[in-house]
Amino acid sequence: MDDFSIPFEKLGNARKVGIQLPDGMKRKAIEIARLIEEKGYEVVISGETNFGACDVDLSILEVVDVLLHFAHTPILRDERIIYVPNFIDYNPKIDLEIEEKRIALIATAQYVHKLDEVAEWLRSKGYEVEIGSPKGRVIYSGQVLGCNYSVLRDCKADAVVFIGDGLFHAIGAAIYTKKKVYAYNPLSREIQEVDTKDFERKRYFEVSRCVGKKSAGILVSSKPGQRRLKLAERLKKIAKERGMFCSIIYMNNIAAEQLYNLPFDFYVNTACPRIAYDDSFKFERPIITPQEFEFLLGLRDSIAMDEIEF
Ligand code: SF4
Repeated sequence: MDDFSIPFEKLGNARKVGIQLPDGMKRKAIEIARLIEEKGYEVVISGETNFGACDVDLSILEVVDVLLHFAHTPILRDERIIYVPNFIDYNPKIDLEIEEKRIALIATAQYVHKLDEVAEWLRSKGYEVEIGSPKGRVIYSGQVLGCNYSVLRDCKADAVVFIGDGLFHAIGAAIYTKKKVYAYNPLSREIQEVDTKDFERKRYFEVSRCVGKKSAGILVSSKPGQRRLKLAERLKKIAKERGMFCSIIYMNNIAAEQLYNLPFDFYVNTACPRIAYDDSFKFERPIITPQEFEFLLGLRDSIAMDEIEF
């Protein structure tokens, strides 16, 4: 197997081992199960989703001794859950030529392991580099999640350089810090300055579709690292005081088809922020974040990135 080494040394006296893979790795299930069974363990494969470390399959722990949760860094700490990260190798000597000389470095979990080497390289090129310390659900300096940018909370730099795939985290960092953000893809070695206008325009449009509506379903996920019941209860209370009917809807995987028959005018998503940001087009009714709901209710002047802090 090329991408992962199984941490056999952490399995202790376990006999039955659960494995939980993200969609992109599920096709490797046989290969991984065979590797583990060849060492004398019995394997049970989780058929549940694995969107992040927030999404640990706790139910499988009823039938196995330990769970190997693949591709994410820990959020939920439990001695029976073993996280197997997926670090992708890349050249830390990144091609960066930008006018700002004081920069902050951030990366997703797959690329964060080389941030110190990237920083050393950039310092040798004359940049002043900062890497924010981890807090809460983030365990590596400089690491960002789609639901957490706390490493940028005290950012003093003039610009942020994001290392990873896609633009979502970079756009999130730009909205979070209100600073210029460059997205660098370490595999293609392409860099671009991110523009948040499209993203923000779409979000304000989604909020505008909720104006004047009378009922809202506040979605709460039972996934251990996404469950924000207290936030949902607070939002429900505030909305009720303003004459809006709200109910909390509790479910594991928040998917459009599970909401089809419910009669609410729109939804407020307290689970993974990316459900509203990336998948709103899949839902029949508008779906907004808690911050966007507060904006709709007149409690804030603008929208902000939704973050999960616990
Ligand atoms: S809540 Fe969403 S963004 Fe945050 S770790 Fe889970 S899957 Fe990733």
